[in-house]
Amino acid sequence: MAAAAPSAEFSRQHLIDPEVCIRCNTCEATCPIHAITHDSRNYVVDFAICNACNACLSPCPTGAIDHWRQVLKSTAYTLDEQLSWDSLPPPIELEPGSQAEVPSEIRELTEIATAGQGGPASPPWSADHSYVNLYSLAKPAIATVAGNYRLTAEGASADIRHIVLDFGNTVFPVLEGQTLGIVPPGLDRNGRLHFVRLYSVASPRDGERPGYNNVALTIKRVTADHEGKPAIGVGSNYMCDLAIGDQLKVVGPYGASFLMPNHPGSSLMMICTGTGSAPMRAMTERRRRRRALEEAGELLLFFGARAEEELPYFGPLMKLPKEFIDINFAFSRAPNQPRKYVQDRIRERAEKVVQMLRDENCYVYLCGLKGMEEGVIDAFRAVCHEHGQNWDELKPELLAKSRLHIETY
Ligand code: NAP
Repeated sequence: MAAAAPSAEFSRQHLIDPEVCIRCNTCEATCPIHAITHDSRNYVVDFAICNACNACLSPCPTGAIDHWRQVLKSTAYTLDEQLSWDSLPPPIELEPGSQAEVPSEIRELTEIATAGQGGPASPPWSADHSYVNLYSLAKPAIATVAGNYRLTAEGASADIRHIVLDFGNTVFPVLEGQTLGIVPPGLDRNGRLHFVRLYSVASPRDGERPGYNNVALTIKRVTADHEGKPAIGVGSNYMCDLAIGDQLKVVGPYGASFLMPNHPGSSLMMICTGTGSAPMRAMTERRRRRRALEEAGELLLFFGARAEEELPYFGPLMKLPKEFIDINFAFSRAPNQPRKYVQDRIRERAEKVVQMLRDENCYVYLCGLKGMEEGVIDAFRAVCHEHGQNWDELKPELLAKSRLHIETY
């Protein structure tokens, strides 16, 4: 199969690895819709029948069953082709939409978000290739809501949700740090289509649940404007009100810079506030899943929220082993405690921060409120000064080596 243009109709095709399969027949016996068949040589999946229900995955003793390829619907592998294989074919190359084709409103938003690093930067040298702009407003991907869980305590003033979108058979490849776009249905008060809302992917590249082609988002229900006056955020309320089974239009993915390094021994320093934690959650989860496989670098997290009850993923974060991730919370409105911001915690951990800033294998990520950027950069300058390092000389070096990534809104 040849490289495909982004406008072509992609699908995920379920395949069985003939090299690993032990021909035990459990998959064929389990499939509720008889999509799996075999001959004397191979077990194969009929693309026209399989609905990716995944009932066959867990009974398979070898994992041979759990293989998926992005294909053009029109040229999916036939049964005859699969029956002739000795091994799986290599994945086909998706032709990414170029950054230049990304809609201007999204490019403008990216430029504002990355202004602190002087605009979109290049990704770490070992980052995987990201696909951008595969689905447009004219041709969006359709996702189905597979989960919508409140992350913050019931009484907490912030309603932050973990929303899982299932792409079914549609190919929607994302890397940690990328964003996707949602278009709320209906028209705005001027009778125009709503503009695209960008959300960071909060799950790792293999999905919230590996093998299920799904993606998680972290979304806070907006109930006030920037001045604190009551206001209903159109995009966030639409998303937070979605029920399991609802379908929605998704565009993107976007982002080719705020990506994590993949080389062994690479470390991450992550600084975030509120829902700016979404990409950090994706990166941390990626590292957690691959912990046994990789020569692990360090993970250092500075995470700010008003209080424990308003910090998304507080419970799961607290369960992570201390030797896996060094977590520094900053609570600004916790009862009976002094107000703390992420920049205060950075100052408290000066020695560690400077050690990681000096480490060529450490990559720094900053995501969340625009307002925190200045405070964090001031804190970097101060801790560097304290330890005989000049931040104003170090920053351009970090940028040149794609070691500093900022996305603030
Ligand atoms: P938030 O609840 O408003 O704030 C989280 C914490 O940041 C609070 O403790 C707050 O303290 C503190 N903070 C406020 N100003 C600060 C400053 N100048 N320096 C350091 N800390 C400061 O956060 P949020 O509403 O979730 O907002 C997160 C931001 O991330 C939004 O701008 C959002 O657009 C962006 N974002 C979201 C996503 C996503 O996928 N949803 C992805 C990327 C980025 P106070 O008590 O003083 O308020």
